[in-house]
Amino acid sequence: MQIIPANNASEWTGPTGTNTYLFTGAVPTLIDAGVGDPSHMAAVEEGLGGRALALLLITHGHPDHAGGVPALLERWPNARVRRVPLDPCRDGEAFCAGDTVLRAIHTPGHAPDHFCFLDEGTLDVYCGDLVRLGGTVVIPAHDGGNLADYLRSLRRIRALAPGRLFPGHGPAVDDARALIDEYVRHREERERQIEAALDSGCETPEAIVTQVYGDLSPALAPAAADTVLAHLAKLQQDGKAARTAAGWRRCAGAG
Ligand SMILES: [Zn+2]
Repeated sequence: MQIIPANNASEWTGPTGTNTYLFTGAVPTLIDAGVGDPSHMAAVEEGLGGRALALLLITHGHPDHAGGVPALLERWPNARVRRVPLDPCRDGEAFCAGDTVLRAIHTPGHAPDHFCFLDEGTLDVYCGDLVRLGGTVVIPAHDGGNLADYLRSLRRIRALAPGRLFPGHGPAVDDARALIDEYVRHREERERQIEAALDSGCETPEAIVTQVYGDLSPALAPAAADTVLAHLAKLQQDGKAARTAAGWRRCAGAG
């Protein structure tokens, strides 16, 4: 497997941009498409060593992962693309990829169409935007993000006893379980902070962001507010918060 960065560096996507993963061998396969950047395309072509790309698996439909599909299909028109909505993966579906087998695992939360791919040989997991080292993942409540689903997805991947994690952004993760545990703890801590912010009179996701996140780059503040909204939606589901005409309120849980 070769890691081929998509060359779309930004505050969002990290200093090397989105990772794409190339499996050469019997079934030349790429996980995630990048954005169609010419140097990325050239690196994929070089990695393929004259073979044609046969299979393109997409972790989820966000543009930094799926935007390059048309460019890749233009270059390798016979590649089969598995993505929502045209030809979605099914949970548990197994793909011959390179010289191994990749199993699709539906992991909604960051996006409703999010899949991880488990290498059945190594137990490594190509995890898209499930986690990343040195940061957190946005749960965009306005764009299909769901925190309860996300926590279930984290626990599902942890239960596979994965080897390494290969995320869509940043370096590989050697201790998958430790990072997932840290993520779950982080979300629990965030939930407590948001409950405390509601207690102190914050009524909107934006006000909660200012109190909880402190100094945040203005470019990232709207995404933080969307993640706070995902937390509020979960608190509402849990019967611990409610949205009134005047704003969000903490309420006593039923049990
Ligand atoms: Zn994403």
